[in-house]
Amino acid sequence: MSTTTDAPVTAAEVAYYQMVINGERVEAHSGARFDTLDPYAQKAWASAPDAGASDVDAAVAAARAALSGPWGAMTGFQRAVLMRRLGDLIARDADTLAVLETRDSGKLLREMSGQLSYIPQWFYYYSGLADKLEGSAIPSDKPNFFAYTRHEPLGVVAAIVPWNSPLLLLAWKLAPALAAGCTFVVKPSDHTPITAIALAALVEEAGFPPGVFNVITGYGPATGQALAAHPDVDKVAFTGSTTTGISVAHAAADHLSRVTLELGGKSAQLVFPDADIDAAANGVIAGVFAASGQTCMAGARLLVHRSVHDELVAKVVARAETITLGNPADPATEMGPMANAPQFEKVTGMLAAARKEGATIATGGGPDSGLGGFFIRPTVLTGVAPTSEIVCEEVFGPVLTVLPFDTEDEAIALANASRYGLAGSVWTKDIHRGHRVAHRLRAGTVWINAYRTVGPNVPFGGLKYSGVGRENGIDAVYEYTETKSIWVELTGDTRDPFTLG
Ligand code: NDP
Repeated sequence: MSTTTDAPVTAAEVAYYQMVINGERVEAHSGARFDTLDPYAQKAWASAPDAGASDVDAAVAAARAALSGPWGAMTGFQRAVLMRRLGDLIARDADTLAVLETRDSGKLLREMSGQLSYIPQWFYYYSGLADKLEGSAIPSDKPNFFAYTRHEPLGVVAAIVPWNSPLLLLAWKLAPALAAGCTFVVKPSDHTPITAIALAALVEEAGFPPGVFNVITGYGPATGQALAAHPDVDKVAFTGSTTTGISVAHAAADHLSRVTLELGGKSAQLVFPDADIDAAANGVIAGVFAASGQTCMAGARLLVHRSVHDELVAKVVARAETITLGNPADPATEMGPMANAPQFEKVTGMLAAARKEGATIATGGGPDSGLGGFFIRPTVLTGVAPTSEIVCEEVFGPVLTVLPFDTEDEAIALANASRYGLAGSVWTKDIHRGHRVAHRLRAGTVWINAYRTVGPNVPFGGLKYSGVGRENGIDAVYEYTETKSIWVELTGDTRDPFTLG
């Protein structure tokens, strides 16, 4: 058994990791620990502490204290230097971190390598904003006053992140929070706790003072809930399911903490008859089978004009049947397993219910009997009822439902007939239609003739049950600041103390 936080990843041992609070490697006060599984090998490969409420208190206290230490005294220029260094260190260690992500989540190494080499851009982009958080000088309506605003750090940020893209979704929160001057406590998913701990070593190496970035590990309903409910947390930044997001928002509301919630989706891909059908088929595959469908922005509902329905379904099915399933670390693999047992059971349960309701299985339909484990075949379902669970609810697996439409209005109505509103796409060669339909879709992001593209500089987030607030882009940094207004009296005169003015 290895005993350092930078424990080597070997098949033969369970690597031993500790939490990071105030720059120290620590155990939970209770001494409890849990194992994290490699979903491909289906066995424990690492272990981490199982934090309780007193550990959460310690992490939040460390983050609070750091606000009044050297970090709180730094200028945006100084924070930016550290952030750029952190970006460089992540770039340096991208390969190692990608292997850890794949080991913990079962996601393809080729996808995680891509994510890890892209994550530094979040730190570079937001480092460019750290020194530009300018307030405004406001001309007063009163001749003897002048007013100005400052964007001050919100304070202690609690981040709760899921298992599907652990470090990327952490970076979406950490980079703007650091730019704003906040301090940070993250609770990663108990399914993927390791890379947040690995990141803490790089934060330290970059020169951030202790307590700016703290990692507590444990289970959602205990550790996560205690963090979201902590009265000394100023903001909760959450990514995960809608159900848990609502519970996190309730916990945060009890102490009026700010929240951003990036939640589930059931995004629609609309294919019009004039679309490039090969490109659309490729986009549909990318939308729902990449990451084995375990992505909030999965384009899981295909809405296709009746005149091209059969042609498009045939192309998608043909490609789905050639998708290579297997070891996520193998560069030839195109789809890995489900990330954990509850997720595997959820997907197989929803597929069984869809079959019972009479859905037609164009391909796939359940577990891969050859590979076993948590593998699910890429699945395409036709003949589905628009109101069925499989069409309306997030599967978070490689399952595409297909519905035909006859008119543009019908396509838009079907797309918007969802409680979610995260993303969507329009496939058409008609420039007028592309923009027109994009404007009418009730979704936070719409791609035209593309799918599953994000960037640090483009806002991302949901409408309706898909979330609150936006990540990425310039506005996201203001999700981590509080605006303070300062009034300056210019004349030194006194005035009537009993009037507002
Ligand atoms: P959850 O929403 O339950 O988990 C997301 C994060 O919240 C994890 O860190 C989890 O910790 C934590 N958490 C869980 N319960 C609480 C709580 N009561 N208070 C505070 N934090 C909590 O997602 P699941 O892992 O259970 O996945 C279920 C479904 O959610 C998926 O099938 C998918 O549909 C959706 N999902 C959506 C994601 C997205 O990106 N929008 C990401 C992940 C899931 P822990 O994992 O340790 O329990």
